[in-house]
Amino acid sequence: MKIKLASEDINSVRIRHLERISGEDLKKCYQCGNCSGGCPVSFEMDIAPSQVMRFLQLGRIEEVMKANSMRLCVGCLQCYSRCPKGCSVAAILEGLRQTTLRKGEDFEKIKEIPIPFLQKAPQQAIVCGFRKFVS
Ligand code: SF4
Ligand code: SF4
Repeated sequence: MKIKLASEDINSVRIRHLERISGEDLKKCYQCGNCSGGCPVSFEMDIAPSQVMRFLQLGRIEEVMKANSMRLCVGCLQCYSRCPKGCSVAAILEGLRQTTLRKGEDFEKIKEIPIPFLQKAPQQAIVCGFRKFVS
């Protein structure tokens, strides 16, 4: 598949905004793959953590926004602890979630989640859900 890269995408306002709200510098990532190797849910992600960084370095934010990666991230910070460059994919994915929420879009219909399920859900799931779904 051919991918057309454009400098206006790589230096787009959206990419700079994402760097600003996440506090991350995408250029620091040198694609070692340690984050993807340690991520407990990367096997289910459309775009693995290291690939998220690469897509964003290349200005391909739309693909990352459409992928399930930011929804599946459980915020465990393994990616951050394993990164030799001190990058936090977790912060980037959180920034993408915040961007989505600030646009008024929601990931899930929270009110439609059955109460019996919520009563049985582990604390981690509730905390993660709170961090992901509440702006
Ligand atoms: S914080 Fe998210 S992206 Fe990073 S290792 Fe954990 S689940 Fe994967
Ligand atoms: S561990 Fe860090 S440097 Fe390596 S691919 Fe992931 S974000 Fe990039």
